[in-house]
Amino acid sequence: MAETVTNWAGNITYTAKEVHRPRSVEALRSLVAASARVRVLGSGHSFNRIADPGNEGVLLSLAELPQIVEVDTAARTVRVAGGVRYAELAATVHRHGLALPNMASLPHISVAGSVATGTHGSGDGNGPLASAVREVELVTAGGETVTLARGDARFGGAVTNLGALGAVTALTLDLEPAFDVEQHVYVGLPLAGLDHAAVTATAYSVSLFTDWREPRFNHVWVKRRTDRPLPDFPWAAPATEAVHPVPGMPAVNCTQQSGVPGPWHERLPHFRAEFMPSSGAEIQSEYLLPRPHATDALHALDGIRDVIAPVLQICEVRTVAADEQWLSPSYGRDTVALHFTWVDDFTAVLPVVRLVEEALEAFAPRPHWGKVFTVPSAGFRDRYPRLDDFRALADALDPEEKFRNAFVRDVLRG
Ligand SMILES: Cc1cc2nc3c(=O)[nH]c(=O)nc-3n(C[C@H](O)[C@H](O)[C@H](O)COP(=O)(O)OP(=O)(O)OC[C@H]3O[C@@H](n4cnc5c(N)ncnc54)[C@H](O)[C@@H]3O)c2cc1C
Repeated sequence: MAETVTNWAGNITYTAKEVHRPRSVEALRSLVAASARVRVLGSGHSFNRIADPGNEGVLLSLAELPQIVEVDTAARTVRVAGGVRYAELAATVHRHGLALPNMASLPHISVAGSVATGTHGSGDGNGPLASAVREVELVTAGGETVTLARGDARFGGAVTNLGALGAVTALTLDLEPAFDVEQHVYVGLPLAGLDHAAVTATAYSVSLFTDWREPRFNHVWVKRRTDRPLPDFPWAAPATEAVHPVPGMPAVNCTQQSGVPGPWHERLPHFRAEFMPSSGAEIQSEYLLPRPHATDALHALDGIRDVIAPVLQICEVRTVAADEQWLSPSYGRDTVALHFTWVDDFTAVLPVVRLVEEALEAFAPRPHWGKVFTVPSAGFRDRYPRLDDFRALADALDPEEKFRNAFVRDVLRG
């Protein structure tokens, strides 16, 4: 390969034979048509080989395509190019007095890559980021443009697509009027007696953080829309200073806390666009389970916290509303998402990932597509009732399997 490209975390070096950064959709079309194996790279924030085309493949970055962000204020929609990141999208949308319904923990990630893997924020009533998408424009294997819009029978496979349908050149998203959010942090919530549903119902978006060194949550981050009431939080004490989710990291990297109101895009992510998100030296895993299992699943993890804690930086517990994307880890079920930011030592982390998967197996977890997991694909057919429909859609749009890498082939074998 002429150029070495790694993911954000540096734990994956892509094995492509060529890397291209087309500057126009026409150039992209020609590259796709002329290649036998292709994968598109977003901002490279996934922790596994989902974006890797393999030794014989071509890796395409859309970061040098025109970074279109077109807001239609009357329709309350935005059309955004395939390489744009949430940071630029959110700032433009906000300048028009509009908002996205939710954001992930960081705004540094590309929109197309995020929705392709089912990326989510938190909130009992908030679906994953893909649920705001109403239309997807793709350059498919032969270099043609295909548009799939809400209402089309194929739309359930279009957004959370693992990059397997084609190169997404643009997405259109629903917007709503801009809103303000206050971020309140509470410390020292015990696991014993936890009423998880009551805690997550307190506000628009709630995250619980634990390092599993004790059976308690170090922090609870409560993000309240200022147009909705702030209920009491009787279970833990308010933080007296700003905090970072990862112990020892500087709070200046985080969006403002202490209940200071601010625009949605400067409070819904935990991390500020102009700073390093998370800890930077890390591996991540995440499992999404039916929400009624939340408390039992947390107790199952508590049972192995002595092995989790030594290789863990932080564990975050969020909620996600059910959605309708066939390959979404929250497809058809209101979800609790159990996230792990591990230390940057794959050899030490992998056995613990396996133990976590064993501990959660009884709760039918679906792994986050963009993070490290070892769950065998043989179980995916039961976990994803529309897997065959997705395969049929991928076959129809890409009969020669040009956009299928080892990761996707394994998922589709499920
Ligand atoms: C610090 C950090 C924090 C994170 N926080 C969260 C979080 O809060 N919530 C959460 O759910 N996840 C989180 N993640 C995971 C992250 O959101 C996902 O890995 C997401 O896919 C990253 O988007 P990306 O653009 O970097 O995708 P990439 O890793 O570049 O690609 C992911 C997939 O999308 C495909 N793809 C990308 N762009 C296109 C395109 N234009 N056309 C076709 N296919 C495309 C790729 O081929 C690949 O299959 C976090 C990751 C990091 C590093």
